[in-house]
Amino acid sequence: SKKEESKIPEKIIVGTNAEFPPFEYVDDNKKVDGFDIALMKEIAKRMDKKIEIQNMEFKSLIGSMESKTINVVAAGMTKTEERQNAVDFSDSYYTSNQAIIVKKDSKITKLSQLDGKKIGVQEGTTGDLISSGDKFGEPGKEKVIVKKAKVKRFKKGVDAVMDLKNGSVDAVVIDEKPAQEFVKNNSKKLKLVIDSAGAEYYCLALPKGNEEFKKEINKQLKAIKEDGTYDKLKAKYIDN
Ligand code: GLN
Repeated sequence: SKKEESKIPEKIIVGTNAEFPPFEYVDDNKKVDGFDIALMKEIAKRMDKKIEIQNMEFKSLIGSMESKTINVVAAGMTKTEERQNAVDFSDSYYTSNQAIIVKKDSKITKLSQLDGKKIGVQEGTTGDLISSGDKFGEPGKEKVIVKKAKVKRFKKGVDAVMDLKNGSVDAVVIDEKPAQEFVKNNSKKLKLVIDSAGAEYYCLALPKGNEEFKKEINKQLKAIKEDGTYDKLKAKYIDN
């Protein structure tokens, strides 16, 4: 009988949005690098597959997966119910929180205090959902956190931060690690407030229904965690 054809792609084409340090960014040599990129390169190497990185807007990633231009999203993407209608997710490789960036003299300490305020977000992200009055949280614990704010959407988180510095928005809601990086670069003017809307699990997004590919990706992820490679990459990119 004929051997069934493998559903694992010959080439791993990774979509990312290199505006999310330390997970993905454009480095000094104009190359896309970061924890997610290094992780995907390691996975591809272990699978003996070629890899290509495609840098695009965050909100285009899921659509590119559906139209098959890419076959992995590595973009600090939080696993959400809604996204699962369009893609499958790998096992989680990182747990994160939302953060609020405000001016140094701001009295804001909680997401719930953002009602009635102007919030800058990166379009299509969980920070956008939370700020826009959508229900958010782990399954069974979803709730609306910010009920009524004016949300200004940016393609790049860094541009939202620029608007905060200019005073065009009162706060930026974005994931904790990039928030730390953005504040570090503006430490005279800005500060970071952590108010978790619930843990967010970063996963690789994968083509819907390709169990064989997902199984292989999860197998490699597990091996990378178990043999110390994950910790090495984390030390290099995230905890440095
Ligand atoms: N974790 C957030 C999300 O999935 C933000 C990701 C990002 O901006 N790259 O929406």
